[in-house]
Amino acid sequence: MGLATTNALELGVDVSGLDAVLIAGWPGTRASLWQQVGRAGRDGQDALAVLIARDDPLDTYLVHHPEALFGRPVEAIVLDPSNPYVLGPHLCAAAAEIPLTEDDLPIFGPTTPKVLDDLVAQGLLRRRPTGWFWTRRERATDLADIRGGGGNPIQVVESSTGRLLGSVDEPSAHTTVHTGAIYLHQGETFLVELLDLDAGVALVTSAYPDYTTFARDITDISILSTERSTSLGPGTLHFGEVEVTRQVVSYLKRRLQSGEMLGDEPLELPPRTLRTRAVWWTLPASAVAPLAEAGIDLGGAAHAAEHASIGLLPLFATCDRWDIGGVSTELHADTGLLTVFVYDGHEGGAGFAERGYARATDWLTATREAIMSCECERGCPSCIQSPKCGNGNEPLDKRGAIRLLNTLLTPQ
Ligand SMILES: [Zn+2]
Ligand SMILES: [Zn+2]
Repeated sequence: MGLATTNALELGVDVSGLDAVLIAGWPGTRASLWQQVGRAGRDGQDALAVLIARDDPLDTYLVHHPEALFGRPVEAIVLDPSNPYVLGPHLCAAAAEIPLTEDDLPIFGPTTPKVLDDLVAQGLLRRRPTGWFWTRRERATDLADIRGGGGNPIQVVESSTGRLLGSVDEPSAHTTVHTGAIYLHQGETFLVELLDLDAGVALVTSAYPDYTTFARDITDISILSTERSTSLGPGTLHFGEVEVTRQVVSYLKRRLQSGEMLGDEPLELPPRTLRTRAVWWTLPASAVAPLAEAGIDLGGAAHAAEHASIGLLPLFATCDRWDIGGVSTELHADTGLLTVFVYDGHEGGAGFAERGYARATDWLTATREAIMSCECERGCPSCIQSPKCGNGNEPLDKRGAIRLLNTLLTPQ
């Protein structure tokens, strides 16, 4: 007799008499893994737990490196409470309860005075001799979005019945419920007839298409400031503030069974900008010239290394690969060099890129190992292909990525 469950069961639910646990895919953290494993073998009973790896670079790495799981403590949580996008709404909520005084400021950390000045300048708080006061009629707690998505959510509505199926946060709406998208909801398939961003609604209709859709976007990144730099092999590693501009420009239709391309339909959606933190590495022309001479597609190699490194970062910073993004280029306008960026997907940064900077050698070594140990010939979802690539996983060069990372990780 078996029981199929979501990860809800990991949260301490005790079903007595379980003999074995089968885990479908790496659950994301060692803490979750041990919680899930611990559902079987209660009261000193013997038990078996099996982790079934998915097509994912991190799963590939872990099945080849079980030592990354066994004998390691559970991970430290990464968060950045001084992020102004996080701190600002919290200060407003606190001030709405009881006006903030000078004595309170140390509780909120060293960036508090600067963030308070900004909130006063925006008219959200007012400075009086007795402290900082919330000035608005609305509830200050509404400023903090527990989904962390930002923007107003888009309501997904069935056009024939007016039934509300759910909501999608605004950033994801561009990729998941754009006009023409196939949208899955609790096992039912819908076609998006219209996405109206101004009205905050996506109208959908029940449909049975023989294809899926996949949004393509163009991502640009510019460096606003470099906070830290250090040498890495012949190259340089940086951490700093960036602005990421993403625009969904079209969507691909793919036949369900064969994956055959049925077309690329243009979309007109506004660009979205994100101010966040990133870790990035560059290699000088002298280091990449031998690779180009050896016939390696540098753009494809950098792109493959970027994808795999995004897949592996969750091992070093407790995050989901969907919390981070990347951009790679053979020649970036701001650096004038081959550059690979990995950025936090949240406004202001959530601390993941910073953790990547601190653990860069371990992180990029594990990335290279994951690519090398994958049995595929030219790249697959277990190593360098990414389910969220806005460029349809083109171009990618698996062997080139290994050579590029070898170059980067060679001590000088
Ligand atoms: Zn592979
Ligand atoms: Zn990509």
